[in-house]
Amino acid sequence: MTYDEIKEKLKEENYPNPIALGKGKAYKELKQQIFEATEFLDGESSAVFRAYCILNDITEVPTCPECGKKVNKKQNENVGESVYDTYTFTKFCSKKCARTSQLTVDKRMASIKAEYGDHNMRTERGQKEFRESFSTKYGEGVTHPMHVKEFADKALKTEDGQWRVTTEEFKAKRKETVENKS
Ligand SMILES: [Zn+2]
Repeated sequence: MTYDEIKEKLKEENYPNPIALGKGKAYKELKQQIFEATEFLDGESSAVFRAYCILNDITEVPTCPECGKKVNKKQNENVGESVYDTYTFTKFCSKKCARTSQLTVDKRMASIKAEYGDHNMRTERGQKEFRESFSTKYGEGVTHPMHVKEFADKALKTEDGQWRVTTEEFKAKRKETVENKS
């Protein structure tokens, strides 16, 4: 049976309660079908958890976003509407991966905050507010860190404090090149 067929059947049977589905004689055949359709799960997995996977269109064990290993099962804290929601998959394969991922998020958030303050740059409103607060602080038309002289100077200076080719020098050089060519 396909997932859709099993879903249909479960609905027809008015979603048998977990004990009935797991142990009831009446659902022996349906249970068999549920097991066959979810062979990607380990042998320990219960009919109820398999039904959960079917109802949520999960056709393979999800992988850890940090390391790519298969994730584990856990008790479902946000029990949904379905009677089969007792267990779900963890997001990460291990506490270690969860922590690493959180650190990455924290670091990214910290650097975004350092650059943009409390403005939510993902929204147009946040971007507008960021530009406005910049203009208020540094003057009309200054809407980006590169516009601010102190930032710009820093960007134009080499590590030992020497100026990179300045605009004037650059213009002069270019003029020279053009004149030499003609
Ligand atoms: Zn992992």
